[in-house]
Amino acid sequence: MPLRSPDWTPSATLDPVRLDWLDSASVSLALLRLERIDPLVSGNKWFKLAPHLARAAAQGAEGVISLGGAHSNHLHALAAAGRRFGFPCVGLLRGEPVETPTVSDLRELGMALHWLGYGGYRARHLPGFWEPWAARYPGFLQVPEGGGGLVGAQGCAPLVAMIQEQLPRLGWDDYDALWVAAGTGTTLAGLVLGEGGRHSVFGALAVPPDHGVAQQVSALLAEAGAVDAGYRLLDASRGGFARVDAALAQALFDFEARTGIELDPLYTAKALIALRQHVEAGYLAAGSRVIMLHTGGLQGRRAMLPRLLRLAGYTATSADASR
Ligand SMILES: *Cc1c(COP(=O)(O)O)cnc(C)c1O
Repeated sequence: MPLRSPDWTPSATLDPVRLDWLDSASVSLALLRLERIDPLVSGNKWFKLAPHLARAAAQGAEGVISLGGAHSNHLHALAAAGRRFGFPCVGLLRGEPVETPTVSDLRELGMALHWLGYGGYRARHLPGFWEPWAARYPGFLQVPEGGGGLVGAQGCAPLVAMIQEQLPRLGWDDYDALWVAAGTGTTLAGLVLGEGGRHSVFGALAVPPDHGVAQQVSALLAEAGAVDAGYRLLDASRGGFARVDAALAQALFDFEARTGIELDPLYTAKALIALRQHVEAGYLAAGSRVIMLHTGGLQGRRAMLPRLLRLAGYTATSADASR
């Protein structure tokens, strides 16, 4: 049975956040709480996925097949959407089989899983990669890693209107910059499209600068026929994607203690630290108003939590110490 286009357009609230380092610089910050749109289908990944699902429905696809790692927020959102909207989905996983909280969720949500190894996963860009999967899962739409591509970016453009609509609630008539954590840069490109040059978009890179995000964003904007301008990329990776350290762990828990808002260690916590450095370096004039997307990813942090707690100096359990 062909899948139906999901009829769901969630909205996220825009919440002000007060922190001493913001107050010291007279900078205001509000977070677009994408992590709260749904307990399962959380974060920016839904917005990147939605147009792919609409396309799958338009093509009469039978299901959706995509790829990711053992902690993938993207596969998690896809599996959750598959369960919610009743379509079959398949996840092609990087590396050797490993049991993570994400993987056990994927299975429970009904996603069919195939482990490709590392070499097999690297082959995903080679011609012919999809052929056996198309034969095994005929009529399944192939969604690129992370829900990327121009289709995914376009799904994020409406987030700008979601922000605009809520400014009055904050008592803001405008804002000065929009910040987002960038992995592939798809979400960032979508925001640049949505802004159409009105505000500059800052991409806090969760991956090192040589990972091609700049080229990727340029290519998406070119494909959309938009000008390649209105954004800036900053290295927020702290030496590598998935690299965590004590200062990061402390910033994450400190933020949570002060605001009650959880962050994920790989994207949003790193973006917040990059913003703090930007503010403390004096790049933002007093009175500046910044909006940052909370892009979710909280499901992915579960496996890392013991390590983060230990890094931050909170716990040192024997089970954890033996790793
Ligand atoms: C995937 C992800 C991002 C990055 O999104 P891109 O569109 O790949 O740049 C940011 N934050 C979180 C929590 C994510 O899961």
